[in-house]
Amino acid sequence: MVQKEARRKIEYECNICKETRVLLILQSLHREVDEKGYVEYVDVHQCLDERLNANILYVDKSLVVRSQVPVRVGDDISSSQISALQIPVPKKVDLKETEIIPTKEFKYKNLKGLRIADKLRQAQYVLHKSGSGKKIEVESELSFIELEAIVSKGIDEDIIVDWLKQIISILEAIVLLDEEMLSYLITYLDPKITTPPTGETIIEIDMILHAKSSFPISSLKSYATFRRQWPEFSKDYGKKNYEGYEKLLTYCIGNQHKTLLDIYFKAENSLQFNDFINRIEDLAMLGLINIKKTEFFTVQEN
Ligand SMILES: [Zn+2]
Repeated sequence: MVQKEARRKIEYECNICKETRVLLILQSLHREVDEKGYVEYVDVHQCLDERLNANILYVDKSLVVRSQVPVRVGDDISSSQISALQIPVPKKVDLKETEIIPTKEFKYKNLKGLRIADKLRQAQYVLHKSGSGKKIEVESELSFIELEAIVSKGIDEDIIVDWLKQIISILEAIVLLDEEMLSYLITYLDPKITTPPTGETIIEIDMILHAKSSFPISSLKSYATFRRQWPEFSKDYGKKNYEGYEKLLTYCIGNQHKTLLDIYFKAENSLQFNDFINRIEDLAMLGLINIKKTEFFTVQEN
């Protein structure tokens, strides 16, 4: 029997804008991280005066928000002042370092090393250097995240900076960052970073970084549409790929509890990770799959 797991609700009122913010989450995604059993979430939203604010939330086992630490960035603060801001998270002084473990598909072809310093989550993720290359550094808009990549010498620096900026802005807005997905992120990036990012690659990076907390959903109706319109779709997506797309689509029909990563595990014998992400993105763009993310939203009060 399939274990059904209900989504549970985390709800709190932002101390600054007084909006009620809600996150619906599977219990299995709520994993304690510190000795008190609290889980940290990050809620980035348009706060008072439409300024961006990041609240770091400490949520207990019963999904009650025990405290919120606002990290607000005003237009009048310079980026050097922001980087001097100490985020008042008790006890954790140094950024805890976690290694990014390469997947077996990762080849160190163009990406030779990576370091992500995440001041929002007080964590640092590192892909240890292998081979020589040049170092390129980028800081996020709200200055909470710094990325440092080591890449092959031949690659245009502006191209890498573009990629890193895309990644960083997605990382900064993510509610629950799961380090396992960083292994897939580097797998995705390694063959691609020699040419500039596109609208499609941005969507794909976003999908990868949310793959453990997002749910691809399809329906019988979408499936029928796919079958009916395949002769048309196949002009862009390759006649021989019918089965590959069809299989992914069927995995997602009526899906409630399988994450995007779960779907990949079902497909991984027949598909490389990058092909998998690319196909899911195609199906999403065709409107045949809807990817439901775990993210905070504002409740309108009447
Ligand atoms: Zn707010």
